[in-house]
This record gives sequence, structure tokens and C-alpha cells, in this order.
Amino acid sequence: MNESIARKYERTKKWKAAHREYVLAYQIEYNKKYYAKHREYINEHKKNYRITHHEQFIERDRKYHTTHQEQINKRGREYYATHREQRDKYRKKYAAANPEKSRKWYKIYHTRHPEKSSEYHTRRRAREVNAEGNGVTARQWEKIKEEYFQRCAYCNQEKPPQMDHIVPLSKGGKHDIDNIVPACKSCNSSKCDSSLLMFLYRRSQL
Ligand SMILES: [Zn+2]
Repeated sequence: MNESIARKYERTKKWKAAHREYVLAYQIEYNKKYYAKHREYINEHKKNYRITHHEQFIERDRKYHTTHQEQINKRGREYYATHREQRDKYRKKYAAANPEKSRKWYKIYHTRHPEKSSEYHTRRRAREVNAEGNGVTARQWEKIKEEYFQRCAYCNQEKPPQMDHIVPLSKGGKHDIDNIVPACKSCNSSKCDSSLLMFLYRRSQL
């Protein structure tokens, strides 16, 4: 480097260090302007970069997910709690606009989560018969299952439990945590619409 250039460089460096805040503000302003002027080019570049570095991005996301699991879950829960209505509205709108896709999606979801499928049908049935009660949230249902150690309330077997209404909905039972126990598929279907006592009596006669 030529000596006068080196001196100039040194001087600029010192000046910048002394006026750090001003330099920073200038840089931000400059970047903003630059971005506004070259928006299309930058976006295009970003898009291409994502495509050509697809693998790295996936890897990065995966890493982030494993190290920030807690935060992600918490954020998701908070978002879900505060945006419930919007989400439901959006989902309904999407389902109406893409009936094929949404049917397919539900099918995949229900085969992957058979336990959710039975919950979904129980809830729908409760709505259909206009059952009284405060309903059962996913978390409350988890808690009920935990209370029964994930076992069937009737036969005590450790099979994937479904929601069972102790007093059946068809007999005016409420869709409420007080009226719900976990039941295995076979107990649930053999109890069906009979009352608890009738079901127990019939079973004792077997
Ligand atoms: Zn059972």
C-alpha cells in the first residue's frame, strides 16, 4: 500500500471509531435505500440461494429445531391460544377452497393419529346431538388419560384409549370432563349406547 493511502485509511478508521453511532445510522439508512432500489434483484438472489443451498437450509432448520424445541413449542402454544379464531377461520376457508387437498390431508392425518380420529368423531357427535357440557380440550383429555395411566377405565388394559361418555350422549349425557373416561376400542364399542351399569352387568354375564 502506498503510504499516503495507508495514512488516509488509518485516519478514516479513527474517524469511524470516534463517530460510531453516526456511522451505524448512516449504514442502516444506506442499506435501506439500497434494498429499496434493488429489491427485485435481492429477492431473486435470495430465492435462488435458497434453491441452490436447499440441503444446508434443511440441515440448519433441523439443528434449530432440536436445540430450540422448548421455545418452539411454547411459541406454538401461545400462538395457538391467541389466534384460535383466525386459525379456525383460515382452516375452514382453506378447506372450502381446496376440498380435494384438505380431504386428502385429513385422511393422512387420521391414519397417522388414529387416537385423534376417534376424538374428532366424538367431538363431532357431541356437536351433532347438541350435547350439553363444557366440552373437553385436548389438554384436559390428556390429563384424563394420565389419571388412568393410559389404560382403559373398564378393562384396565393398556390399549390406545378413546373418549367414552359414562352417560352416553344419546341418553342425555354431557360432553364434559366429568362424564368422560378413557376406554379401549373394544370396551367402547361394546358399551356403545348402554348405560354404565347395564354394560357392567352384561359383561359380568359373559
Ligand atoms: Zn377396555
